[in-house]
Order: sequence, then C-alpha cells, then structure tokens
Amino acid sequence: ESLANQIAAGEVVERPASVVKELVENSIDAGASRIIVKIQESGLRLIEVVDNGSGIEKEDVAKALKRHATSKIKDKADLFKIRTLGFRGEAMPSIASVSEFSIETSVAGEESGTRLVSHGGKVDTLEDIAKREGTKITVQNLFYNTPARLKYIRSLQAELSHITDVINRQSMAHPEISFTLINEGRELMKTAGNGDLRQVIASVYGLPTAKKMLKVEAEDLDFRISGYVSLPELTRANRNYITLMINGRFIKNFLLNRAIIEGYGNRLMVGRFPIVVLSIEIDPQLADVNVHPTKQEVRLSKERELMQLITEAIQDVFVEETL
Ligand code: ADP
Ligand code: MG
Repeated sequence: ESLANQIAAGEVVERPASVVKELVENSIDAGASRIIVKIQESGLRLIEVVDNGSGIEKEDVAKALKRHATSKIKDKADLFKIRTLGFRGEAMPSIASVSEFSIETSVAGEESGTRLVSHGGKVDTLEDIAKREGTKITVQNLFYNTPARLKYIRSLQAELSHITDVINRQSMAHPEISFTLINEGRELMKTAGNGDLRQVIASVYGLPTAKKMLKVEAEDLDFRISGYVSLPELTRANRNYITLMINGRFIKNFLLNRAIIEGYGNRLMVGRFPIVVLSIEIDPQLADVNVHPTKQEVRLSKERELMQLITEAIQDVFVEETL
C-alpha cells in the first residue's frame, strides 16, 4: 500500500506546488472562507495550510490517508455531477507517503480535536487534542524518502513561483475566500475574501492593470460566464494571462482561448494576448473532469455553443465601450 501511494504520488505530487494545490483544494471543498498557506524553502522544508472549514471527523482522520478514501463521492452517479475539486481520494495518501505529515482538525459537535502524525505514510501518532477551528495540515521535508524526485527540483525560485501561481489562480477562482501566502515568515499576498474579483486581480496583477479590465457577463440556457477582460491596449506576449475556470476549477482549453481572441477581433494586435479572468458555470453533467489525475483537462459537451457565447460577450463589451 505504501509503495502504491508513492507511485500515485509520482502522478499527483510532482512538485511542492502540487502539494499546495491539493491541500488548498481540500480546504475549499471543506467550505473554508479563510485559507492561510505558509511555506519555507519553496515548500521543500515546510508547507502548512490552515483553514476554517468543516474539519474532519475523528473516526475519519486516519481514513483520509487511505487510498480512494474520498468523502466526496458516494456512488457512481456522483462521478457525473462532480461539484467538489477533489474526488479521487489520492492526494492525502500520496502527499503523506513522501513527507513528514500531520493533520490537526476538529469538527463542530465533537468534544475534542484530533491530531495525526505520519512519516512516509506510516502513522505514528493519532491522539485527541484541544478543539480548534477547521484543519491545519503540515507537510515537512517533502520528498525526503524519494531522492530521485527531490533531485528533479532544480530551482527554488522557480518552485516558489509555481506556488505563487497556484495561490493567485485560486484567489481569482474564489474571490469569496480570503487567501494568505506567507513565505519564510513574510506575507507575499493576501486577499480580502469579500467577493470582489477586481480587487483580487489588483493583488495578483497590480492596481493599474486591474483598472484597465472590463467586466464581462453573459448567459444562455446552458452556460453562465462572468469575469474581466483587459482593454486591447493592455496585452501580453503570451497566453499565460488567460485564466479560465469551469465550475471553480482551472482548465486549459485551446478552443476557448481562441473564442476569447476572436472576441477581440482586429482590436488585438497579431501575436499579442489579452489578460482575462473568466469563470464559466455549467451544469456539471455537461463537463467531464474525470480525464486526468491533475484534472486540468475537461471534456465539454456543447463546446461550440460556449465558444460563441464567449466571443459574443467580449464583442459586446467593446461595442459598449466605443459607444
Ligand atoms: P479527495 O479530495 O479527492 O476527496 P484527498 O486525498 O484530497 O481526496 O482527501 C481525502 C479526504 O480527506 C477528503 O475527502 C476529505 O474528506 C478529507 N479532507 C482532506 N483535507 C481536508 C480539509 N482541509 N478539511 C476537511 N476535510 C479534509
Ligand atoms: Mg483532495
């Protein structure tokens, strides 16, 4: 089992940023409104995620380290209407198998909290602790027992920027959640959690950029889209500033990028790309997220219809702008 977990870890836990992503997604799934992430040495020494979510019930804490012990899917039908970010029950056991790991958690209605400590996936402590709010997960000395994986991490600076990316995107996907990122004791970023996406964009890309973004909103029977797109004068040399989310989950999708660019038409200079943060809400039955463990790819029904909705919504924004 522990070997199986390490193998799965190879897929799910490629680097410190993948750990941050999985832990933060669990906090979001737990309904947290405040998530604080602390890291040391770009996450290799320490990743700590503290949330004020629902917590884990005492009898489920040890189970969370077992493979496929997700609390989020009850039956096969659930697989086709996934709302939560996690559903495979792979992240916790994978992360625990390649680190020194601990969980401190408690739920409303239980008299005490629970603490679990493990090394390389082996549980050494499971005990009651005082009640706390939500859950704190710590991951120390990541990859200490998988030297090959550790060797593949070349630049601490690059790792830190991957982690920042994760937090930036999650804050844009969830303006209603307050995110704090603390690196070596210094606060790198903090969002208010008041639901104001423009304000989050300001903390990610800076206030001058946020001021040059226009709001887009559109819906039809199947989709609802909303977000911000940059004025044509404010562009970038690559696509990395296009952030797309479907039901709160980040996706990469070539066709939807094209639909955005099409919406700008000849307002956009050739070879330039807009800054976009676009959130798409759809009936979960129209999106199949069960494609890859890292879940960035989504198979969409009615993709053409969505493309058209996006293109027209952006066209409309600029038509209104020039009126
Ligand atoms: P998944 O997210 O796919 O269900 P994980 O391995 O990421 O699987 O997590 C296993 C289980 O542990 C989750 O289903 C959830 O019940 C519980 N869990 C993990 N992190 C948290 C958290 N921060 N708050 C509440 N429950 C959590
Ligand atoms: Mg998860």
